[in-house]
Amino acid sequence: MTAQIIDGKATAEKIRNELAERIAGWEVKPYLAVILVGNDPASLIYDRNKQKAAQAMGMACDIYHLPEETKEDELVELIERLNGEPRVNGILVQMPLPRHINSSRIIETIAHEKDVDGFGPYNAGLLHENDPRAMAAATPKGILYLLEQTLGDVTGKHAVIIGRSNIVGRPLSSLLLNKNCTVTVAHSKTVNLPALARQADILVAACGQPKMVKKDWVKEGATVIDVGINRIDGKLCGDVDFDEVKEKAAYITPVPGGVGPMTIAMLLDNTCQAYLNQNYNLKK
Ligand code: NDP
Repeated sequence: MTAQIIDGKATAEKIRNELAERIAGWEVKPYLAVILVGNDPASLIYDRNKQKAAQAMGMACDIYHLPEETKEDELVELIERLNGEPRVNGILVQMPLPRHINSSRIIETIAHEKDVDGFGPYNAGLLHENDPRAMAAATPKGILYLLEQTLGDVTGKHAVIIGRSNIVGRPLSSLLLNKNCTVTVAHSKTVNLPALARQADILVAACGQPKMVKKDWVKEGATVIDVGINRIDGKLCGDVDFDEVKEKAAYITPVPGGVGPMTIAMLLDNTCQAYLNQNYNLKK
């Protein structure tokens, strides 16, 4: 059996086209402010890609690029100014921040209605409580979208998530629990991970360990979602050994072209939702 590939690139494009059509009808366009501190080349590429995608959809998007030595208080001041500007619908601060800046304080400064990354404690708390007002973090939201598109209703499925970070593992565990999955979250201290992973109907690898998930970790017919972005000898790969695992899984996401493109699409989706909430108190 060879797994069917879950095409995140095509799905993300469809979502972006649908959003673009809706935005075309809005007189005032949604506005996303992206803040980047320092000169990390990968972060700069990520942010430019976000800006390009936003602009291609008809949104306005500026990158506020600040020098590495920016003081924490200066960053807080900028965020507070953007919080108070009615035309700004979403604010995103690119992580990681330089070491002298306290990221928790920065994330907590973003107004919760503009927290389109969903990393702030208010939105994380709402998601944890299964409150529909929660703005869910983009990567887990994209994963859920792919899963529901592929499997339909995920009720009763056993999802094993490898990784417990605040940006992927934890929010994904809430999203899947809210959709009536039985969720197990594994991490670096989990004992006998391969045996646990083999119990999964849905196996999500978000641990940043290149090709860690092998064929014998996967139940026949499972759905495997690979969140990892790693490089081996300059070549991109995920946390799943794709060539092996595709022979056992029923569905699998590739790297690149799986979860990655969905993250940007869902960030822009969150920005549109924030725009509608702020301007019309409407659901999309
Ligand atoms: P973090 O480093 O914040 O978290 C990694 C998690 O994996 C931790 O919970 C850690 O456990 C766990 N882990 C690490 N090693 C092992 C192991 N050997 N066995 C089991 N668990 C392990 O990573 P992120 O969540 O930020 O990212 C994970 C991966 O996803 C990275 O490759 C990242 O680049 C990618 N990513 C991709 C995105 C996309 O859009 N496609 C978006 C965000 C991330 P512990 O808590 O015990 O340390």
